[in-house]
Amino acid sequence: MEIKNKHILVVGLGKTGNALVRFLYQRGARVTATDQTNAETLKDSMKAISDCHINLELGGHRLETFLSADLIVLSPGVPHTIDPVKQARAAGIPVTGEIELAYRFINTPIIAITGTNGKSTTTLLVGQMLKDAGFDVFVGGNLGTPLIEYAEKGGAADFAVVEISSFQLDTIDTFRPRVAVLLNITADHLDRYADFAGYVRSKGRIFENQSPDEVAVLNYADPAISGLVPGIQSSVLPFNIDAKNGNGAWLMDEQIWFRLPDTGEVQLDCRNIPLLGAHNRENIAAAALAAFAVGAPFAGIQETVRQFRGLSHRMTPVATYNNIRFIDDSKATNVDAVARALASFSTPVILIMGGREKGGTYSALKPLFPGRIKHLVLMGEAAASIKAELGAEAPFSHVSSMRDAVRTAWGQASPGDTVLLSPACASFDMYESYAHRGDDFANCVRETGAAGNG
Ligand code: ADP
Repeated sequence: MEIKNKHILVVGLGKTGNALVRFLYQRGARVTATDQTNAETLKDSMKAISDCHINLELGGHRLETFLSADLIVLSPGVPHTIDPVKQARAAGIPVTGEIELAYRFINTPIIAITGTNGKSTTTLLVGQMLKDAGFDVFVGGNLGTPLIEYAEKGGAADFAVVEISSFQLDTIDTFRPRVAVLLNITADHLDRYADFAGYVRSKGRIFENQSPDEVAVLNYADPAISGLVPGIQSSVLPFNIDAKNGNGAWLMDEQIWFRLPDTGEVQLDCRNIPLLGAHNRENIAAAALAAFAVGAPFAGIQETVRQFRGLSHRMTPVATYNNIRFIDDSKATNVDAVARALASFSTPVILIMGGREKGGTYSALKPLFPGRIKHLVLMGEAAASIKAELGAEAPFSHVSSMRDAVRTAWGQASPGDTVLLSPACASFDMYESYAHRGDDFANCVRETGAAGNG
């Protein structure tokens, strides 16, 4: 891809947009960067590019700039369906995304991980398995360091393990990972896709350029995913398979079994590991298959799983007062993540839900309520819709702040119960991010605990 002296428009000036600007500028492109947000709000985030001489168009997009570019590069958060992008495409101007651009400039074999839930956990786990096996590994993408930053630094690792969102897959063209992992596909981001089928197509693109030498790790029990298998050219290593069938991994109680062409059957023991819940067993199975596929030995993988503690705000214990556990699952921003969290409890739960809606329905949670949800605490913009769908399933309260949510939940809890923040919604109605929301929850829990309310 020719960059020098080309007019390249970068759309979106967050962390990845800044990295794109630096990369393109250093390679001699004439860069314009545009963002809907105004200069004042972007002031701090743009410090990283203050030494790059570029044109800035902030506080909105100018169609003429899109139509006069030689190439348009989208940041991961920018939908490829916004009007100026559509018009530029129609006028024959090439449009690409950060992942595709980075891919063209690196030689490192890529292990790419996507799915509705579990991407970050699995990405870090694969990275750790490979590091523990002695490889030099870059871990990033949609999580942490953007792949373009790795490209900018002339990355020379043995492997790049990258988390990829469906928005990033929407703008790929030749992107072809050595190993592509698809964890699950459930309703999410329906505000950004025409329908569920469109979302599935987007996720399935992770396999589209692979050849038989490459590997597809996928969740065989997920009907949306198994339906993609006939179209996949690479060698498929499925997890959640029926134990009697072929190579891959299956889960049995506290063990994950693997049957692989080179190793035969091996068994990974998940008793007493730090990662909780059946969903994490799936993440471990997927991560191990990916690590096996590029040569990590089994003994090391078992040891990594024994040590790996996971990320914050995903089923993270915050405190226990009076034998009431408080768990922060703020990263559960869709219904399936909440369902998986709830399924791991056999004792009563006081569930705090709500936030900004993402266009789905909450009714899939109904079967998990009987005998489990003692009280529902609703907050944020989505409170009314959740109440309409789930209000008949358990007693509920409607609150207007996290502090009230924690106090109300606490008032409903008895020793042995769990207070769980698992919102099923985005956080942006009240917070900067899910992490900010989770931290607020943890602070409110500690504050209420310190005030003796426990
Ligand atoms: P992502 O990067 O895809 O958002 P995370 O690892 O950050 O995934 O986890 C997001 C949420 O989904 C958390 O609430 C977590 O407990 C839940 N989760 C993790 N793995 C899975 C899975 N395999 N299936 C369903 N939910 C999961």
